[in-house]
Amino acid sequence: METSHVNDKYLRPLQDLRISIMDKCNFRCSYCMPADVFGDDYVFMREEELLSFDEIERLVSQFTTLGVKKIRLTGGEPLLRKNVPDLIKRLSQVAGIEDIALTTNGVHLVKQAKALKQAGLMRVNVSLDALSTDIFQEMNGRKVTSVVVLKGIEAALEAGLEVKINMVVKKGVNESEVIKLARYCKERNIQLRFIEFMDVGQTNGWDFSQVVTKKELLEKVATLGPLEELEKDYLGEVATRYRYKGTNAEIGIISSVSDTFCGNCTRARISADGKLYTCLFAEEGYDLRSLIRLGATDSDIKSRITEIWSARTDKYSEERTEETVKNRKKIEMSYIGG
Ligand code: SAM
Ligand code: SF4
Ligand code: SF4
Repeated sequence: METSHVNDKYLRPLQDLRISIMDKCNFRCSYCMPADVFGDDYVFMREEELLSFDEIERLVSQFTTLGVKKIRLTGGEPLLRKNVPDLIKRLSQVAGIEDIALTTNGVHLVKQAKALKQAGLMRVNVSLDALSTDIFQEMNGRKVTSVVVLKGIEAALEAGLEVKINMVVKKGVNESEVIKLARYCKERNIQLRFIEFMDVGQTNGWDFSQVVTKKELLEKVATLGPLEELEKDYLGEVATRYRYKGTNAEIGIISSVSDTFCGNCTRARISADGKLYTCLFAEEGYDLRSLIRLGATDSDIKSRITEIWSARTDKYSEERTEETVKNRKKIEMSYIGG
């Protein structure tokens, strides 16, 4: 396979790709799909609007010729899509793919972890915002308890998947769970990644006063033992990682609000209906599905991706202002896939 590399306007290479494979979700997390907005009458994508597995595989093959080696499947809830192991198997056979990961709320892992691993999945990030039942239910907007997700995590570990836990922290809602989850993960040597609550989309009522910052998180977690910052593993790593001194246990913090990292952002995103986004906070995507369905050749697809990435100037988090938070028409997290 011939690989060429493409840089954007700030010389950031295209390196990794997140693909949303399902816009629907069985949760209604207040920070992502608030139940009053994503209600019974909300219109989700029709089956035929979703990229098919053939189309996803075709796009991935073109992205790899531009240097992409890592893929993450996400959503909505990706495990609501049928036959995800089949997709993973196909993607793991695409030349150039070295790493396939999945982000999930964990509910379907008990049933699917083994098949996902067998298909070639390497890693899962499981979102879990609280251990306490009432707080977790307030966060997930459904009556799901953390026991369900913890069983999913167990199943993933048993299947041999590398597991990280993602925790979004909202001031005054699940802050009290930070230490509990940190202790739980430290004891089991699972990496916990805190994600600062972000102003993605238009519906989650974000304002800065609800963000628990990296600095505040570090102060809380340090009560479990002194932490030391670790070197970045690779260009484009979004989490800052810390180790509890004298142990192997790590935490990570994704501080997209208080300590931004746009300068290293090497990530492209594809929505479930096949639009390419060059930033999580983008207003518009580029319709690759139409290109494919109108009969584009592989070379046409590659040229279009190259053209889009070469023109990229996104650095929303570095430029965030009250005005952009309020007035920019950003697409929803459940649509673009986090
Ligand atoms: N449903 C899956 C899940 O929750 O893991 C995958 C999709 S979800 C959109 C991907 C990640 O984005 C999750 O870890 C979720 O917690 C995070 N997320 C969603 N909305 C967010 C927000 N407003 N701020 C920060 N993280 C958010
Ligand atoms: Fe669903 Fe994930 Fe969004 Fe929660 S964060 S509503 S689980 S897509
Ligand atoms: Fe990348 Fe956009 Fe996030 Fe900056 S704001 S790190 S450019 S996705």
